[in-house]
Amino acid sequence: MKQYKIAIVGSGIIGMTCALYLSKLNNIQITLYGKFPKHSDYKTTAILKTSFNLFKSIININEDDENIQKLKKFKIIDQLRSSEKILDFDSFELEMDCFAYNIKDSLLSDKLIKQIKKSKNIIHIDEFINSINNNLQEVIIDYKGKRNHHDLVIAADGRDSIVRNKNLISVERLKYQENILITEIDHSKHHENTSYEIHRNGSLLTSVPTSNNTSAIVYIDNPENIKKKNGRILTDYFNQLLGSYLGNIETNRTHNIFPSETLRVNKLYTNRCILIGESAHVIPPIGAQGLNLGLRDIEVIYNLLNSYKNIDPGSKIITSKYNHLRWSDIYKRYKSVNLLYQSMMNYNFKNFIIRNIGMITLQKSKTIRNVLLQEGMVLKKNK
Ligand SMILES: Cc1cc2nc3c(=O)[nH]c(=O)nc-3n(C[C@H](O)[C@H](O)[C@H](O)COP(=O)(O)OP(=O)(O)OC[C@H]3O[C@@H](n4cnc5c(N)ncnc54)[C@H](O)[C@@H]3O)c2cc1C
Repeated sequence: MKQYKIAIVGSGIIGMTCALYLSKLNNIQITLYGKFPKHSDYKTTAILKTSFNLFKSIININEDDENIQKLKKFKIIDQLRSSEKILDFDSFELEMDCFAYNIKDSLLSDKLIKQIKKSKNIIHIDEFINSINNNLQEVIIDYKGKRNHHDLVIAADGRDSIVRNKNLISVERLKYQENILITEIDHSKHHENTSYEIHRNGSLLTSVPTSNNTSAIVYIDNPENIKKKNGRILTDYFNQLLGSYLGNIETNRTHNIFPSETLRVNKLYTNRCILIGESAHVIPPIGAQGLNLGLRDIEVIYNLLNSYKNIDPGSKIITSKYNHLRWSDIYKRYKSVNLLYQSMMNYNFKNFIIRNIGMITLQKSKTIRNVLLQEGMVLKKNK
């Protein structure tokens, strides 16, 4: 069987996962470019139950690990108007024992790095790439004065992707006014495997379990409000909003702040390059969708390369099929998550009507709740 050379640029969680997953194919040699990442200790990712098997097939990871929390329920508390509305979702509604597994990015990364170091099928080049020359015949990567030739380049180099920019793939990128603060809290009550999302006019506060009496916090608000809430004021704020669910809350940890933004591209490939993960799509952190979307990019590439082993992986048959197969899923998540985000952050009469209809429908109709949950969990195949 002919052997092909595939490069993956970017060794974040998506790049490393892609390298390990594709290394199961015996007709490709993988080169992974980039420095291994260092993650904030407060950053966690809820991996949907439907995506978890992908990790199980490449690293030593187990749902019963004490460092992984099962998310069985989520509660949306809508406080956009004076009267509070509450929506409860339980994984039992889908006859599942949980929706997702929450894990610290630092732990997931460590496991991926360990496995990459062991893999015989992956060459890891611990350098950033400087440039890329991509045409229909071949693709050449420049790094540190050296040049490597590849049949296909998979860009996993994040939201500022050099591969995307050098290939002039046009991008729609919107920086929202808000920032995202992440930290971790201790609480006196057990979280009951529940994630709480408090929607307010112009802000969002989410807690996601990390151990029996700790939860990760994702707090989105305008930068001035975030700046004002330092030290005790921040802890008081968490107590005011989450105290009735989680008991007495304390946090003596620091926090990290990220910009809130969203990004999508007008196509997912050009010549012999394809885009995956945040080089192709960035969405606000609501409903555990971002990384999971990237994991589905990886599954599609794997299936294509596995089904067409005798075809050059950088040929248009593969790259355009990838674009075709991923387009609608990415577009749907991008639109729905951004609509939900904007309806919270930019609360006007039109958004109020849309939200109100949505909330009432979800409270009353079991069928619609089920459709939404199945869609969020990707239980139905995306076309
Ligand atoms: C607060 C927050 C909470 C979130 N929670 C969830 C969640 O619960 N569930 C979920 O599914 N998603 C979640 N997400 C989204 C998820 O974190 C991202 O989708 C994911 O981390 C993106 O990974 P990535 O590997 O695509 O990008 P990155 O992590 O940005 O990795 C890109 C890598 O490319 C490297 N790179 C860049 N340039 C070059 C170069 N020239 N050469 C070589 N390498 C290069 C970088 O060094 C980096 O390591 C959340 C996001 C945020 C901000």
